[in-house]
Amino acid sequence: MIRRPVDLAAASTAVRDLLRALGEDPEREGLLDTPMRVAKAWDEILSGSNLDPAAVLKTSSGADGFDEVGGYDQMIVVSGIPFSSVCEHHMLPFIGHADVGYLPGASGRVVGLSKIPRLVDAFARRLQVQERMTQQVAEALAVHLGAQGVGVRITSEHLCASCRGVRKQSRMVTESLLGIFRDHAVREEFWHLSDRGRTA
Ligand code: ZN
Repeated sequence: MIRRPVDLAAASTAVRDLLRALGEDPEREGLLDTPMRVAKAWDEILSGSNLDPAAVLKTSSGADGFDEVGGYDQMIVVSGIPFSSVCEHHMLPFIGHADVGYLPGASGRVVGLSKIPRLVDAFARRLQVQERMTQQVAEALAVHLGAQGVGVRITSEHLCASCRGVRKQSRMVTESLLGIFRDHAVREEFWHLSDRGRTA
């Protein structure tokens, strides 16, 4: 999904109209520059839509853009990856961390440590729902690495829940387990390594 370039002028006008509709005076001093600031902030917040997950994962070394580690057949876990995303139902942030694990496939494809946080970011910087984001990160790894299995667990706080209604702070946890990670012992190990990684 490639997003069109953002029309900053139109977005800025829309924010000015929104302020007016909310009973604010967009011409008062404190709000004069707000519409364009908001437009530029949203351009950045949604910038993940323009990123291609395959390109994000590829490294410069390795024959086909991926590193290969022959014979390594153990789980790789990167845990506690911080992210912020935006819930598409309220256009308010949800903020938390992701735990990502995979078991390389027959090709032995692995990615560098910095690639997985960038992949999480590529899917976070869009209008999202947490369930879908969890699945997208897992599927991208499964497809592009040919992994035997992938596990993704995302824990976050949704501002649409904590700022409105009951105003209770609540955490949402979602998980996507693919391939061999559906096996009970494998997912136990994923949870164990994730928790250990975050408290290390
Ligand atoms: Zn929401």
